[in-house]
Amino acid sequence: LEKYKIAVIPGDGIGTEVIAEGVKVLEKIAHIDGSFAFSFDYFPWGCEYYCKTGKVMDDDGLERLSKFDAIYLGAVGAPNVPDHISLRDLLIKIRQGFDQYVNLRPVKLLAGAPCPIKNINREDINMVVIRENSEGEYAGAGDWLYKGKEQEVVLQTSVFSRKGTERIIRYAYELARHENKTITSISKGNALNYSMVFWDEVFSEVGKEYPDVKQYTYLVDAAAMFFVKDPARFQVVVTSNLFGDILTDLGAAIAGGMGLAAGANINPEKKYPSMFEPIHGSAPDIAGKGIANPMASIWSAAQMLEFFGKKEWSNKIIRAIEKVLTEKTVLTADFGGKASTKAVGEEIIRQLSLLC
Ligand code: NAD
Ligand code: MN
Repeated sequence: LEKYKIAVIPGDGIGTEVIAEGVKVLEKIAHIDGSFAFSFDYFPWGCEYYCKTGKVMDDDGLERLSKFDAIYLGAVGAPNVPDHISLRDLLIKIRQGFDQYVNLRPVKLLAGAPCPIKNINREDINMVVIRENSEGEYAGAGDWLYKGKEQEVVLQTSVFSRKGTERIIRYAYELARHENKTITSISKGNALNYSMVFWDEVFSEVGKEYPDVKQYTYLVDAAAMFFVKDPARFQVVVTSNLFGDILTDLGAAIAGGMGLAAGANINPEKKYPSMFEPIHGSAPDIAGKGIANPMASIWSAAQMLEFFGKKEWSNKIIRAIEKVLTEKTVLTADFGGKASTKAVGEEIIRQLSLLC
């Protein structure tokens, strides 16, 4: 029996609600398959924990997490804790501490998912955004110069290393080659005359090793426009930390909404555990009501299975979600339904069993 040790960080708000459904799906799959099993260890970190202890995560958090095969995270954030504390002291600490330099976010319009773009062909929204996840605009470098009103100046510095830029671009090229897809680099070399000029150079340099992969480049502002006007242009997209963050929320909006958007934070070398999480936040506006859509977190669980080499199970989860979306009888409020988080989780599990 293969064993996978999963560290679960439900976090705050709807994070705890949606993660519970994802865990049930994983347990069900292990049960049906029979050749592997999961163990789940829970960590109570997040904003509530911060209010009690003064820490978002324990000091030895990374060390404890390092013993797991993967991390499954809900969302962190609460109205009474500054967002930069919860984000930097937990999420970014894990992403950077475990060198999860690939943030892989599918932007795919599933069968039955709503789309705000009129007359869209479903197949036209089918991309994977590879977001640089370890440095760039989120490196955390900067300074607050001359505190005090009149002469106040703040610096927020982007960091693009040769190693960091090359490895993310190479990862995207490999994926594009492997899946026989085009690659698009999204940057902003006209305005960011150091960082993005460098990015563009690396993209074209590495690209010489992939003459078989069709290569495109876009400025980020134009790309944002085409995400909406003509998303069929994009297949494998590679972009920086900040641009990827923004573009994937836009991607979520065209592909069914935040309730359906999944993301994986991957350390490809498997030196450290990778982390799987929906891209949405803790949604304080609907937290505690049991009405959050668990599909995004369940899709993240599917990404985890794919990462473990269980692509067929990952595909089955996505097909089960599509079944629920097309039948439209058990949906949460974001999709116009009245069902609870739990009911949707159970319905996905029921559809999954029917597929087996
Ligand atoms: P959010 O993603 O929490 O919510 C945005 C909107 O989408 C809200 O109206 C919410 O109700 C809706 N929504 C999100 N997920 C949903 C789901 N699964 N089902 C139904 N509706 C859903 O973003 P926000 O409001 O900007 O941030 C709230 C908090 O979450 C903040 O503290 C923020 O810092 C934090 N946050 C955390 C993460 C993370 O943990 N990865 C990501 C983004 C935001
Ligand atoms: Mn974001």
